[in-house]
Amino acid sequence: MRPKGAVSSIKWKIFGAFAVFTAIMLVLLWFFQVVFLESFYKATKISEIQSKTHELCETIGDSGFSTRLKTIAQERQICVIVSDVAGNRLYSEHAVPECAIHKLGPWALATIYMVTEQNGGSYFERFKWEQGISEPGSDMPIKKSVPESIVYAETVQTSQGKVMILMNSMITPVGSTVETLRLQLLSVTSIMLLLAILLAWFLSRKISRPIISISKTAQEMASGDYSVEFDGSGYKEAYELSETLNDTVQELSKVDRLQKDLIANVSHDLRTPLTLIEGYAEVMRDIPGENTPENVQIIIDETARLSSLVNDLLDISRLQSGTLKLEKEVFSITEAVREILGRYTKLTDYEISFSAAEEIFVCADKLKISQVIYNLVNNALTYTGEDKRVMLEQETEEGKVRISVTDTGEGIPQDKLLDIWERYYKVDKAHKRAQIGTGLGLSIVKTILDMHGGAYGVESQEGVGSTFWFELDIVKNPEENS
Ligand code: ADP
Repeated sequence: MRPKGAVSSIKWKIFGAFAVFTAIMLVLLWFFQVVFLESFYKATKISEIQSKTHELCETIGDSGFSTRLKTIAQERQICVIVSDVAGNRLYSEHAVPECAIHKLGPWALATIYMVTEQNGGSYFERFKWEQGISEPGSDMPIKKSVPESIVYAETVQTSQGKVMILMNSMITPVGSTVETLRLQLLSVTSIMLLLAILLAWFLSRKISRPIISISKTAQEMASGDYSVEFDGSGYKEAYELSETLNDTVQELSKVDRLQKDLIANVSHDLRTPLTLIEGYAEVMRDIPGENTPENVQIIIDETARLSSLVNDLLDISRLQSGTLKLEKEVFSITEAVREILGRYTKLTDYEISFSAAEEIFVCADKLKISQVIYNLVNNALTYTGEDKRVMLEQETEEGKVRISVTDTGEGIPQDKLLDIWERYYKVDKAHKRAQIGTGLGLSIVKTILDMHGGAYGVESQEGVGSTFWFELDIVKNPEENS
């Protein structure tokens, strides 16, 4: 058994997993919304200005070029200058007041042109400067910080010669945005944490409740109370588990009841012959002339009854523990039935018949199959009616032989037909003759036939009688197979 402390409750496990998940989500949100926001924004801006320059390069000769240039400048807040190699402006769109390129003269533009050409046709620069503004009445210019600019230039060949497209976009500081987001995220984080805790608590309770209830009931069951009922309502898996456990507890209570019955039966069954043996032996010792063969026979019969009882108990325990192996051989089942019936010839007041059209061979454990036949015939003799008739029949169909044993007794109620195969089960415990049995005979039959893979069953009609049957595979050429 694992130590209790090493295993934490499912409630806390679910709760913990949920809390970790929420924490990771929040950390991710913080990183993307606060820490990386500026770099994302800058990267987007750079890629935007580059793609717009490419777009203009491609449409430079078209008639709608100047309109396109205006639209881009207004929509994207980008300043654009198109100049020739000497720095003369061919087109110019001014969209942002603090733009860096509109202050440039022809000489500066020509220099950028040159640098762009040297650079392989494109040029990119990011810079930030401080603008000096002279306030009226003050000698010293006040330094005013201007947002960071990104400048991108590309040279392109047109029908009138090579020109340069120069663009300027501003990077608005994200500081204030980040601050707003941070405040928002703080409230979102608190609300999410609260919701996550509530949800985790609710979920873990919902999932663990049926399990806790099942576990409590199982503890009661383990202490020997088989009247408990498992309740796993809540979700499918727990419900199925509780249903399985309900079936198990029913089975356990049945076995428990049957076992208690067995102890009562066995002690009763052992006591009756023992009392008789003791009584007769004492009479024979104390009273002269009582030492008769009849009295000795009674002692022998009672001893035989005792040993058959003990044998039954041994058989069932060996068969059901799986220690007994089948020793298969090819033999005539017809002959085996005849042999067994031969042992009953002394029961002159019983009429036992056997109908078999031909001799049939099977491959099975002869000793165990004989025990099956013996048990079925014994039961039939025990429970048959006043006419004391028992009929055995051998039939063949589709490569199988069926041996059936029919009696004319009281029959078995339909609802008990399945139970009689259980260990220690007796339909009518008050039945005078049933008191002799242990309730193990049919359980032995069932186990042996299951081991052989043979079909078996019973048909019974109350007041008319019962037919017990079993089937085995026929061996066609017994000489070859033996
Ligand atoms: P037992 O040793 O008590 O006969 P079995 O396992 O052979 O035990 O049979 C279980 C129960 O099935 C019996 O107690 C009896 O109630 C019922 N039973 C078995 N065979 C017959 C039969 N031929 N007719 C009526 N009831 C039968």
